[in-house]
Amino acid sequence: MTAKLIDGRAIARRIEGELAAEVERLRGALAAVTLVSIDAGENAVAALFQRGQERAALRAGMRFVRRSLPAGAREEELLALVRAQNGDPAVHGVIVQRPLPEGMDTRRVLDAVLPEKDVEGMHPANLGRTLRGETGLLPCTARAAVDLLLGTGCEPRGLEVVVIGHSEIAGKPIALLLLDRLATVTVCHIGTRDLARHTRGADAVLVAAGKPNLVTGDMLKPGAVVIDIGINQVADAKAPGGTRIVGDVDFESARRVAGWITPVPGGVGPVTVAMLLANTVAAARRQHGV
Ligand code: NAD
Repeated sequence: MTAKLIDGRAIARRIEGELAAEVERLRGALAAVTLVSIDAGENAVAALFQRGQERAALRAGMRFVRRSLPAGAREEELLALVRAQNGDPAVHGVIVQRPLPEGMDTRRVLDAVLPEKDVEGMHPANLGRTLRGETGLLPCTARAAVDLLLGTGCEPRGLEVVVIGHSEIAGKPIALLLLDRLATVTVCHIGTRDLARHTRGADAVLVAAGKPNLVTGDMLKPGAVVIDIGINQVADAKAPGGTRIVGDVDFESARRVAGWITPVPGGVGPVTVAMLLANTVAAARRQHGV
């Protein structure tokens, strides 16, 4: 068997197209849907993510504003910058790029973003709404992973799902979103004794562990849906720059067993960005009552 590929890039472009049409329709009601990206300390990884988000925002007809603090900036300066965006009615969404410089309290900084402008869906108020099954600003990565799973056409009710990873950004909210769809969800993590015992019985495996090759083909049930959220940089002498990006799944062995699989790159990543933009449009509509 060779798994069908879930083309995250194509799905993201379709969502961006729909958002562009919506942004166009909103033009009379508000000047420009605006997402502000804040970064501190000139981090190369953060800069890479930011460029991808900027390009996608421009494709969707949105305004993307960068606010950068130099290396050596203090946490108080960053908090002041966040609060300035909170108070600016022309700003609809705010994303704080990570990792933050060492010594900064990431949770404190993220919590400073106004829940109404927290388009990543990571503020405790938005995570709480996700727990209660309310619609609103849902965590982007989790929403992307779940939408890709459901996009394969599988019926979530009764689906046996294994989520690997229990972080706030991915594993936990993925489990919540799937529970609301009446899937039977098992969450595995670093304390799980025998990962393969769980994954082998699963109709779908969603993995966000940050460990290359954690899931291999022999750990999968034939025909399973595999959603790989991991983004890992590994050494590869043949690749330009000597490194390449891989997920948490050993793609070559998994694709021979799975029914559907997301590639990395080009799977969950671009759809996560599309969800960030969708949240920004939703936040703008709510703030303007349109
Ligand atoms: P994290 O470090 O916060 O959490 C890792 C999780 O994996 C933990 O729950 C841990 O218990 C579990 N884990 C680690 N090793 C394990 C093992 N050997 N067996 C079973 N479980 C194990 O990570 P995170 O922030 O959730 O990110 C996870 C991965 O997802 C990273 O590669 C990250 O880059 C990627 N990520 C991708 C997106 C996206 O948009 N595609 C967004 C966020 C994170």
